[in-house]
Amino acid sequence: MDPSPIHRHTAGAARREAQLAAPRITRELKTIAAMLRIYCRDHHGAVARGDAGVCADCAALLVYARKRLAGCPYGAEKPTCVNCPIHCYGARQREAMRIVMRHAGPRVLWRHPLLALAHLLDGRRRPPPKPNAGTGSKTADTSNPPAG
Ligand code: SF4
Ligand SMILES: [Zn+2]
Repeated sequence: MDPSPIHRHTAGAARREAQLAAPRITRELKTIAAMLRIYCRDHHGAVARGDAGVCADCAALLVYARKRLAGCPYGAEKPTCVNCPIHCYGARQREAMRIVMRHAGPRVLWRHPLLALAHLLDGRRRPPPKPNAGTGSKTADTSNPPAG
């Protein structure tokens, strides 16, 4: 018998949490959070900050990135998002992240050199073969399709 929808939902949530705990994914999320803090401090300095040390808009982008990483069809062997041939982000979030990275990329090297170096090395790895279309389309953000 098929598992119940509730069971499937719980299993999916557990799988996503486990994926977030993979070292490369944890590191990528930390790097994104560090870059968002730098960007937010330099651009949204006057806005009240939450627990993540960023304003509400940047916190929303961080939550979005976390969700994409948790559901990444490549799993723990994922390429860095910037080198990803799928790029599952919606167009708006993708553009927002591109702007954040352009500003914070060089600066994060000074503030978090080990993290930034590990992230650079991760980015040099070849992306694994594309997961099959069925898996990819389940996680792609079809509500807001990527540009290009
Ligand atoms: S599919 Fe690509 S862009 Fe989306 S989380 Fe995975 S590596 Fe990042
Ligand atoms: Zn901000």
